[in-house]
Amino acid sequence: MSALIFFRPGRFLVLLGIFAGLVTVARAAAPVVGQPLPGWERGMLDIHKINTGTGDAALLIFPDGTTLLLDAGAVDRSSERAPRYDAPQRPDTSLRPGQTISRYIRRVHPDGTRGQLDYALITHFHGDHMGTLLPTAPASPSGAYMLTGITDVGDEIPIQTLLDRDWPDYKYPAPSGGGMMLNYRAFLKWQVAQRGMRVARFEAGRSDQIILRRAPREFLRFEVRNIAANGFVWTGSGREVRNRFPVGVLPVENNCSCAFRLAYGDFTYFNGGDMAGVLPPNAPAWAEMESAVAWVTGPVDVHAVNHHGTQDGANPFFLSILQPRIHILSTYAASQPAPEVMRRMLSERIYPGPREVFMTNSFWPGRREHMVTLYGETDTAWVLAKMAQSAATQGHVLVRVAPGGDSYHVIVIDDASESGRVLSIHGPVKSRGAAESPAPRE
Ligand SMILES: [Zn+2]
Repeated sequence: MSALIFFRPGRFLVLLGIFAGLVTVARAAAPVVGQPLPGWERGMLDIHKINTGTGDAALLIFPDGTTLLLDAGAVDRSSERAPRYDAPQRPDTSLRPGQTISRYIRRVHPDGTRGQLDYALITHFHGDHMGTLLPTAPASPSGAYMLTGITDVGDEIPIQTLLDRDWPDYKYPAPSGGGMMLNYRAFLKWQVAQRGMRVARFEAGRSDQIILRRAPREFLRFEVRNIAANGFVWTGSGREVRNRFPVGVLPVENNCSCAFRLAYGDFTYFNGGDMAGVLPPNAPAWAEMESAVAWVTGPVDVHAVNHHGTQDGANPFFLSILQPRIHILSTYAASQPAPEVMRRMLSERIYPGPREVFMTNSFWPGRREHMVTLYGETDTAWVLAKMAQSAATQGHVLVRVAPGGDSYHVIVIDDASESGRVLSIHGPVKSRGAAESPAPRE
């Protein structure tokens, strides 16, 4: 081959392109403590637990840039139930939680401030996941609904496809007519009619509801498997599901939560909303979901702890199967985590090996006193000591999975301001690998 052919302009540009690509990969900006977080890059999987102190929200950026907003909560502190939620709002009370979430998304979105959300998923219909209808909530400029949680974020940032557990009926397990649901449905109706939003019911067993929207063929080892919703649990075979709730019973909202497992290369992540795993006295077995979900989920790298570490979640069987390397606890009440949940997460009798706990909120004025009324002096002192030893006690928690999914870092980001400043970096941790999963194969 002649050198002249080699340097034909077309080939030269191709070679230049490849070379530039190599340089880009080699220089993927590493996060530095004290500096703003470097942006997502193609091939990475980013899972941002966004902390407003007042509910759940996470932004997932898939390897091809597809985005998923997972819940967008806002709790009510003005009612008599207020002491249940006593973590301070982040960064402060000058913004509504939904505004803080929108602004966070704008800062990290692959398309910048013009970015839209490919997906939003509401795990279940509780205010800390979708936004309580607060008396102070302003109306949308459209006038069609009030702004809180998901309606606040969706008003600001267009959502292409929204998934929840009961579209379009909202009758399971019982018709819901409260103000929060009516407002949510008014939001959906307006968004569908005026902005072309697509809404669909999240169905257990499927792996084609949340997909890579931009370059699916470029990242073949990527899957979001719907594990459970409304008591239906994937069997591990094809799209087959089994109903865990007997006919005629009235399950609680938390156990109807949408649950999914995300796999990227050898990396796996589980989110089960607020499903329970520990039965109250005399309750039938179907009143907990975690055991049924555990078998088909298998070991995971990162576990978003069910129900914020409340005492009815993270049962020993569930933990012994998932064996999470990283626990992310979204906590905003003094009851979270319960002492027994902290004991189980840390227990090497339940599963061996290292693990770390990352908490979004831990210490605030009055917390200790409130905890003592719930758990007594001894347990309170023990839990507070364990919390202080956690990998993170306050902040947004980002899991950044390297291109291909072989390893990941956990990065804690300052939530006292909107600086995006990195507080600490953990890892790299090697992904445990799909080969270890006992989950049945298709
Ligand atoms: Zn919750």
